Amino acid sequence: MKKGLLAGFIILALGIFGVWWLEGGKTASAPSASAAPKDKLEVAVSGYVPYTLAKQIGGDRVRLHMLVPPGAEPHSFEPTPGSIISVSEADLFIYISPRVEPWTRDILQGLSGVNALEAGPSFPEQDPHIWMTPYGALEMAKRIANALTRADPGGKRYYKENLKQFEEEIKELHAAFRDGFSDCQSRDVVHVGHLAFGNLAQTYGLRLQSLTGTSHQSEHSVHKLAQLVRYIRKHGVPAVFTEETLSPDLAATVARETKVRVLPLYTVEEVSKKDFDAGITYGEYMRRNLHNLREGLKCRP
Ligand SMILES: [Zn+2]
Repeated sequence: MKKGLLAGFIILALGIFGVWWLEGGKTASAPSASAAPKDKLEVAVSGYVPYTLAKQIGGDRVRLHMLVPPGAEPHSFEPTPGSIISVSEADLFIYISPRVEPWTRDILQGLSGVNALEAGPSFPEQDPHIWMTPYGALEMAKRIANALTRADPGGKRYYKENLKQFEEEIKELHAAFRDGFSDCQSRDVVHVGHLAFGNLAQTYGLRLQSLTGTSHQSEHSVHKLAQLVRYIRKHGVPAVFTEETLSPDLAATVARETKVRVLPLYTVEEVSKKDFDAGITYGEYMRRNLHNLREGLKCRP
């Protein structure tokens, strides 16, 4: 009798444990769920690039707090009191660089003792969007993996394994980009957006024309827009590319003038609410970019 009762308790306990375990597994995929276990590493991230990389490497062991909300522009973002609280309460704060996100300077100057990782380029480059090439993103992911391991040594093997998987994806992405433009009608990427695809164009042998400089704040002029229209006509460019947060009517104007098709490119630093909710990954964004570039440049398989 006593034994049976004990067995019953054990079964009940196992059952409860099982439910808890299942729920833990479920909530782990939703970083903001409040029911998630409390022992997760709390990581504040500036925007979507560190968000998606930290999610891929940190997986179930991290809970992410993204400062720039979906749909917002990452370069000229202004931190709210909430952003500052998120950073001050986090175990780790990951951002790209003050050149890409000037507003991170204000946050870090105002707080002391923050465990912060600058995951972006540490040397001045013409185009600081280094994640726009697969190997540039891998470099950032490695820094993120190191910082997560320092903050949570118990997860060392887990982070290492996730990084290894990400590296495999990066190799495939790079090969797809490398081989993707071997037979195209055009190599001219006319981008009605800010200079975010400079590294990608340089790495894969494309010619890039951008409307503005490396941030959204840089001036775009009617003069520059007219220049793009002339360029498209002169070189018989088959498409014009847009970016999500920069006024789509600018691209529409160029397309109307030149009668070419319009296709979007994704900077990853900007994420729509829809893509954010769907949990789009870095690799998925880059495959969309490759697909649209190949469509727009009329590349053959
Ligand atoms: Zn940018």
